[in-house]
Amino acid sequence: MEYRRFGKTNEEISVITLGGMRFKHGWNPPRSILPAESIQNCIDTTSQAFDVGINHIETAHGYMKSEHLYGITLKELATPRDQFKMMTKGAPMTGDETRALVEEQLENLQLDFVDFYGWHGINNEERLQAAIKPGGPVEVLHRLREEGLIRHIGFSTHGSLDVILQALDTDLFSFVNLHYYYFFQRNLQAVKFSGEKDIGVFIISPNEKGGMLWKPSDVVRETCDPMTAIEFNGKFCLQHPQITTLSLGMHAPEHFPQNLSIISEAKSDKEQKIRLQMDDRLNEVPDLCTLCNDCLPCPEEINIPEVLRFRNLLEAYDMKDYGEFRYNMFEGEGHWFPGNFASKCTECGDCLPRCPEKLEIPKLLFDTHKRLFDRKAWSKNKLFDLARTFFGFLRNFVSGIG
Ligand code: SF4
Ligand code: SF4
Repeated sequence: MEYRRFGKTNEEISVITLGGMRFKHGWNPPRSILPAESIQNCIDTTSQAFDVGINHIETAHGYMKSEHLYGITLKELATPRDQFKMMTKGAPMTGDETRALVEEQLENLQLDFVDFYGWHGINNEERLQAAIKPGGPVEVLHRLREEGLIRHIGFSTHGSLDVILQALDTDLFSFVNLHYYYFFQRNLQAVKFSGEKDIGVFIISPNEKGGMLWKPSDVVRETCDPMTAIEFNGKFCLQHPQITTLSLGMHAPEHFPQNLSIISEAKSDKEQKIRLQMDDRLNEVPDLCTLCNDCLPCPEEINIPEVLRFRNLLEAYDMKDYGEFRYNMFEGEGHWFPGNFASKCTECGDCLPRCPEKLEIPKLLFDTHKRLFDRKAWSKNKLFDLARTFFGFLRNFVSGIG
């Protein structure tokens, strides 16, 4: 295993983090009822991760049963506390909520302290301000750090580059969890800025949100050969010295070999050749959107660059499964994945003069919607979202009367 310094936290952690959001039945409410199969799955996976040298495990209060599962697992494995680092996250909105939530999370995890606590989801300006307001959540997290319940404070984000750069510049955080992959390089500036500020960088979901790499299109698979798409992207991320670790949601023994390949011996000439072939494919796309963001804002709240990124990937690499997976999350994920479907475009023309590539944006949007919109997938996402909101409400109601 390779270990890297996690920015100014000064902790040495493995370049692979065990992400804890995919254990069997892990998303089925209620959070504290744990099926034997889920417990065994968490124990087996965590044990295998420790055996291969992974020393960093990650979860969040928002991952339903995950903290409880890790709590039982760590007790069962009896791994000495100084041999692993634990990251959890939460999004309390007030100072009072913060202390109560962290105490509850420590109880779930059966730990006296967590190494890394990330404020979960600085996804827009409003959430940034809510997190850092005087007397608010982040201020209380710093108090909890002085009390020894938390060792280092960071944040996770699915937000715009502007919001990420602002949050990094507050000097309130020691690490950041963000999206950056071969197929999504928009946040490179944030990765570099983190390096300048000595803020540790943790990559969220490289194999799924980074391109559904466990199920690559034929074009991606063939272009990456002899590497797998997972190996190519993992090495692509780790070539940046600012990036410390990639969170991989392994939950079965067979997931390990492919993920461990990202730290196999460097094959720089092969990597370089694959990278050039991948770049060439993209550069040949007719009407390529360069993802500059200049066309925004759209009065209909269409996330034009993200829709056209899915089009770029369809054209260049035939990434239909990934495109459908992400595109059908619009209008259902709130601040986690904002934007309306491209079909809402009224052809007002506001965006057109702002596009340096002179793209026919409405035409490209309608075409992408036609190719990616899947009513069934969207309805499923919507149902899941409603269930999540309902159980969140129920939980707040029960804790309110408890
Ligand atoms: S033309 Fe369509 S995409 Fe462009 S600003 Fe108007 S509504 Fe938005
Ligand atoms: S301005 Fe044009 S090139 Fe830039 S993100 Fe918008 S559509 Fe793409």
